[in-house]
Amino acid sequence: MGTLLIRGGRVVDPSQDIDRVDDLLVRDGQVVAVGHAGTQPLGKADETIDASGLVVAPGLVDMHVHLREPGREEDETIETGTRAALAGGFTSVACIPNTEPPIDTQAAVEFIHQKAARADTCNVFVVACVSRAREGKELAEIGRLVEAGAVAFSDDGAPVYDAELMRRAFEYCRMFDKPILAHEEVLELSRGGVMHEGLVSLVLGLGGMPAAAEEVLIGRDIALAEVTGGRLHAMHVSTGGGVALIREAKRRGIRVTAEACPHHFTLTDESLRGFDSNFKMSPPLRTAADVEAIIEGLVDGTIDCIATDHAPHAREKKMLELDRAPFGILGLETAVGLSVTRLVRSGRLGWPRLIEAMSTLPARILGINRGTLRPGAVADITLIDPELSWTVDVGSFQSKSVNSPFHGWTLQGKAVATIVGGRVKHRLV
Ligand SMILES: [Zn+2]
Repeated sequence: MGTLLIRGGRVVDPSQDIDRVDDLLVRDGQVVAVGHAGTQPLGKADETIDASGLVVAPGLVDMHVHLREPGREEDETIETGTRAALAGGFTSVACIPNTEPPIDTQAAVEFIHQKAARADTCNVFVVACVSRAREGKELAEIGRLVEAGAVAFSDDGAPVYDAELMRRAFEYCRMFDKPILAHEEVLELSRGGVMHEGLVSLVLGLGGMPAAAEEVLIGRDIALAEVTGGRLHAMHVSTGGGVALIREAKRRGIRVTAEACPHHFTLTDESLRGFDSNFKMSPPLRTAADVEAIIEGLVDGTIDCIATDHAPHAREKKMLELDRAPFGILGLETAVGLSVTRLVRSGRLGWPRLIEAMSTLPARILGINRGTLRPGAVADITLIDPELSWTVDVGSFQSKSVNSPFHGWTLQGKAVATIVGGRVKHRLV
């Protein structure tokens, strides 16, 4: 495979506390070293990329992606979804098992691995179901799924409703040191809702999904993680109350981690005034105060990471009126731009913390050997141009779907090269 020299970029690797302008040498798919900027080149390379002015980061990891295959290939496939990931700067994604059929057997995990290998794009790590068929009645065969390579467990799309089942799931997953990625929603409270319950839903006459629907279940699962010693990862945290619960749980030493999605730190429920279904997602867009709480959570580390909840839906499905359209939006190709624009350029987050939230910590939570540029590590690398101003155009997306509320937005910051195992898979520079 030869050598690849990435010269003169700002290398940001929180796993080694590195943030300096330097060179990075890759040989045969592995990181050799960071070092020797300028006068002492690391040696003659087969290929050189001039990274001056760019951020050189360990490959980004999105731990919450719906690839839709098998079963909903009209929305996305493993191939198109992972191409979208590469275009967005992600070298690894964790795919969520709410497919048709759901990923709840060794054969199903193997199917994803094979499809991903054939696509030969980014790494795909498989999240398997907590319950058999995602029905919330019996536990899936956690041990056998771990054996097949599942890195985490989730019934996302829906909560694990039975508290006793969730307790046992925590106990089983604990034996394998795997986290449960939890969609936190009390369905009786949010049923019939299309947006956040508040002043705007009242004015618009639309059914509301109260913040309490999310917070009640976060509270329950913190209690279950505490009693079992299991690992809770709260997905797509969207409310200030949720952030406060997680902050307190962490303070008490409970094993809880959390993620936030770019749309939840960018948009509010005011966006629904246009009745556009591209602003409909679950959990819904909340208030400005919630947005601020999410950002504070990211700043102080209560929210460990940024994940996209990439949720493609074919155009005709999202074209329906608000109460019939499905929940969810695309995320992979706008995550870097939104994060840099909203968090870094605003001065709220430094680059090391952003890279930690988009690479180091999701890799650590999933227990995968990624998210680092240590010597010997797999050479998954993302180059980001922090200054590049670009306009979101869903027509140019790699994803099979176009359901993004950010079409036409001008963002700053974009992944300009995505390198997987030492091979350049996406490149704009
Ligand atoms: Zn969810």
